[in-house]
Amino acid sequence: MRFSALALARGAFSFHGNWPQLWRSPEPKRRYDVAVIGGGGHGLATAYYLAKEHGVRNVAVLEKGWLGGGNTGRNTTVVRSNYFYPESARLYELSLRLYEGLSRELGFNIMLSQRGILTLAHDSHQLKMLARWLNAMHLNGIDGELLGPGEVRQWLPLLNDSPTARYPVKGAVLQRRGGIARHDAVAWGYARAADTLGVDIVQNCEVLGFLREGERVVGIETTRGCIQADKVALAVAGHSGVLAAKAGFRLPVTSYALQAFVTEPVKPALSCVAVSMATGAYVSQSDKGELVVGGSLDLYPSYAQRGNLPTLQAVVAGLLELFPCFSRLRMLRQWAGIVDVVHDSSPIIDHAPVKGMYLNCGWGTGGFKAIPGGGLVFAHLIATGRPHPAAEAFTLRRFASGALIDEGAAAGISH
Ligand SMILES: Cc1cc2nc3c(=O)[nH]c(=O)nc-3n(C[C@H](O)[C@H](O)[C@H](O)COP(=O)(O)OP(=O)(O)OC[C@H]3O[C@@H](n4cnc5c(N)ncnc54)[C@H](O)[C@@H]3O)c2cc1C
Repeated sequence: MRFSALALARGAFSFHGNWPQLWRSPEPKRRYDVAVIGGGGHGLATAYYLAKEHGVRNVAVLEKGWLGGGNTGRNTTVVRSNYFYPESARLYELSLRLYEGLSRELGFNIMLSQRGILTLAHDSHQLKMLARWLNAMHLNGIDGELLGPGEVRQWLPLLNDSPTARYPVKGAVLQRRGGIARHDAVAWGYARAADTLGVDIVQNCEVLGFLREGERVVGIETTRGCIQADKVALAVAGHSGVLAAKAGFRLPVTSYALQAFVTEPVKPALSCVAVSMATGAYVSQSDKGELVVGGSLDLYPSYAQRGNLPTLQAVVAGLLELFPCFSRLRMLRQWAGIVDVVHDSSPIIDHAPVKGMYLNCGWGTGGFKAIPGGGLVFAHLIATGRPHPAAEAFTLRRFASGALIDEGAAAGISH
């Protein structure tokens, strides 16, 4: 006991100086087999699986800021696999299964809490849609249950069930294996594991442009010099369009700010994740006790990574229709991340139109839950040149062929 108190005191007065580093901070080499652009969850997971599954270890992850400083550290941490189409179910279920073993795999506690996610129906039409959605989930082998109003009340005792409520609750779909995970820990866990396998993680290194030989990308220009790479992999979420433009092609993505909010911490008040189809608001309670609240996208495309009052008002109004008693809470923080939205709300995991380049983008509002699966299938594509069986449908071609995987409803608000 005395020892740990002493260690704590020593740690406190060292200003973190003697804390062990979780990963190295190497100078970038002049050449890599693979350069992954973007030190968010997808970039780091990709580097980890490249090294672990394919033995490709001469890999760099280049991040313009700090690890997880993009959407990976800004999201509302919801994980689930309750999508509608078989293609999505395969990918998101793969990801959820990887999440279920991730703390052990990485030796890093990602604080996965499978507390259940409830998607609420507020009228009979929404209930029918939920029943159809649930049938599709079952056909795809995904767990889920339809709850009646009484069962919903047991899960959410603070929900407004007054007969005069503006949004009465008619039922809900529950995925018990859905829940939340600690977002920073996912980035840090993958970073440490990738670093251990020899991956160079380089922060404060912005990619400014691409080196070319004819039609082929052969490297990148960065704020820390030029780096040659046999393969260049893009995992920059809301900035995919910016980097694609630098490489000379356009992507079918539009970038929007997506906001989230947290209240002051309170005692346990909410044991699951609750999503409302009608209001667009969703909420969970963090282990610290804060309510973590999200809603829809900002209405106009933007790269302004900050919150604003109109969205706060709209989301809070929706939340209070559902849980009037939360009106007494103070909102502590509000922020935004830039997300890349595509027409069918499904990701793009494919070769880029430029040789030597690979794309992982289009996750929009829901790519946190996909980090392990997205990283695994992207690494497979980069290493083998062929799509992973769980990601064959997520091509760029589908926007020309029309074979869209329209997950607008499943991806819309319940991030
Ligand atoms: C408010 C909010 C709530 C969300 N809630 C959920 C949720 O509950 N569940 C869910 O599944 N998803 C959610 N999402 C979506 C999810 O966060 C993202 O889809 C996911 O984190 C994307 O991960 P990523 O690694 O692709 O991107 P990021 O984590 O954004 O990483 C990309 C990195 O690329 C870097 N970068 C950009 N340009 C360059 C450059 N030129 N050079 C070098 N580096 C560069 C950025 O700095 C960034 O760190 C939410 C998003 C937001 C904003």
